[in-house]
Amino acid sequence: MRRPQFTMFFCAVAVLIGLSWPAEAQKPLRVVTTVSMLADTVRAVGGTRVEVTSLLGEGVDPHTYRPTRADIARISAADLVVANGLHLEAQLDETLKALARSKPVLFAAEKIPAAQLLADEEYKDRKDPHVWMDPNLWSIVVEAVRDALIARDPAGRAAYEAGAKNYIAEIRRLDAYAAKVLGTVPQKARVLVTAHDAFGYFGRAYGFEVEGIQGLSTESEAGLKRIEALVSLLVEKKIRAVFVESSVPERNVRALVEGARARGHQVIVGGELYSDALGAPGTYEGTLIGMLDHNMTVIARALGGEAPERGLNGKLKAGS
Ligand code: ZN
Repeated sequence: MRRPQFTMFFCAVAVLIGLSWPAEAQKPLRVVTTVSMLADTVRAVGGTRVEVTSLLGEGVDPHTYRPTRADIARISAADLVVANGLHLEAQLDETLKALARSKPVLFAAEKIPAAQLLADEEYKDRKDPHVWMDPNLWSIVVEAVRDALIARDPAGRAAYEAGAKNYIAEIRRLDAYAAKVLGTVPQKARVLVTAHDAFGYFGRAYGFEVEGIQGLSTESEAGLKRIEALVSLLVEKKIRAVFVESSVPERNVRALVEGARARGHQVIVGGELYSDALGAPGTYEGTLIGMLDHNMTVIARALGGEAPERGLNGKLKAGS
């Protein structure tokens, strides 16, 4: 006679356990990204529903980065992995592709239609991976991140859609600011010389000729010939500034400055640009908007244009 009671008891327990599932499901989605630009994007879109870890921190070069054992453990434990793709994370490529067989891995930049990507002149089968340098192109990445989060966590759809919408609105504001301040740089001065070819999309978006000492990747060394050719360009076009990058050693850029000086032309280092990594965590420059605001403001000011010293939102470090 006690059996039915037992059954009812167990049913009640089962219902209670069932009721406790939603609380369990609200644990944040664990997302691991490769570069910090993606971490910032996932945070902006996912808000409190996600817990984001970036494998590559401040000043780390993704082209040459090799995963550590701790990285492998982190990506193995993640609910979703977000990489740039397009061969940016060259040494991580194999690990990520193998992982993609057993868990969701988003190669976010590869969602951009190929027709909108720039070619890699060195490797014909590759495209330029530095898509964050054009804010409008990055909007497509934001949408890809939104869709991947929804696929992994459908209950958060409304939150992810709102997060993406707000972030894209911020990106559009930044793009309008960039077009305005960069448009004040005299036409003849619109030449951007940097340590490696990270600024192709920037150049296309805002009408600048861009020249990197190293190519699209930092994997190969810059040749003496390339340095000499760029020195000639600086002298002939009377370019007043060249730029160092936060994730690339600056010795090559110094060689340009000295080469130009030896030929009687004064070039200054116009500032440090963020190319393949955000600035310090917790700072404005440690966000994608802050990083790009910094670059656009510094470039405009160093090449003879007008831009507020503290940038679009008045948040840039003074004197940067
Ligand atoms: Zn790069």
